[in-house]
Amino acid sequence: MPASTQILQPDAEGIARAAALLRAGALVAIPTETVYGLAGDAANDHAVAAIFAAKDRPRFNPLIVHLADMAQVTEIARLSPLARALAAAFWPGPLTLVLRLKPGARVAPLVTAGLDTVALRLPAHPVARAVLAAVGGGLAAPSANPSGRISPVSAAHVLAGLEGRIAGVVDGGDCAVGVESTILDATGAVPILLREGGLPVERIEEVLGLKVAARQDGALLSAPGQLASHYAPRGAVRLEVARPEKDEVWLGFGKILSGSEGLNLSPSGDLTEAAARLFHLLHEADARAGAGGRIAVAPVPEVGLGRAINDRLGRAAAPREGPK
Ligand code: AMP
Ligand code: MG
Repeated sequence: MPASTQILQPDAEGIARAAALLRAGALVAIPTETVYGLAGDAANDHAVAAIFAAKDRPRFNPLIVHLADMAQVTEIARLSPLARALAAAFWPGPLTLVLRLKPGARVAPLVTAGLDTVALRLPAHPVARAVLAAVGGGLAAPSANPSGRISPVSAAHVLAGLEGRIAGVVDGGDCAVGVESTILDATGAVPILLREGGLPVERIEEVLGLKVAARQDGALLSAPGQLASHYAPRGAVRLEVARPEKDEVWLGFGKILSGSEGLNLSPSGDLTEAAARLFHLLHEADARAGAGGRIAVAPVPEVGLGRAINDRLGRAAAPREGPK
């Protein structure tokens, strides 16, 4: 973890430095018109895991990917006619659209929490846009504050919460909007409001000439990661296992059992590495175990990112319920 956090100016040099750090997988807080975002390379599993670690988030809820232009959007997601109309009317701006993820898109599975949808936004802030253009790819960026604290609307707020935990912050002054983006599920024919935010719903309805639907409780999209069995392998998952049985696919953590041929979240016991590999290895374990198979998972310490890892593993092991 970086010992000191660089304060970067919103000039050519500062933006180039921020982009170089981000391309190298480091975390940099950047100003957007809504709030400061804690940005990391959305295609880099380790950078995305580090976002959760820096914020001390106890859960892998999905993150918004920030992009520079529509060409990048269409590389990552499928756009319905509705999504195209929303994008044309309100991007760049304080609106996030949840869209269908394109198979093979370069987005770390931790960004979407393993969902087949992805939340995208083109921010309007000139500094955010300059950093995105310089990076040349998507940046995952939740608000740049420790989990459970107030969202930062100045570089000083960012430093108060995250100094020493991130590589840098680009000081772009105070955020104009000051609240998070409005989030719409735009995967279907009717937009569904997932979160109120900087773009009033009335404006959206006025411009598009249609109603925004309220989110349905219990709908899969409205509660990513909240269904107990969300993102579960097909087979049975057993947790906190010290030694797997013969027919179980082993998902280890830390020291490898002698003679075992299983998968390992992090042989060195590094929680950020384990988080970065979690969804990849759950997929791999699922493929190896098959529908009727069994997966045994080693204990993961309940500290730091271990809490989010255990939260997700607990959902993977929960009795199946709801849509698959
Ligand atoms: P934050 O991390 O504060 O920027 O908030 C991101 C918000 O976007 C959260 O409320 C997430 O639940 C929501 N979100 C991100 N991705 C998705 C998705 N694929 N489906 C539904 N909601 C999403
Ligand atoms: Mg937040």
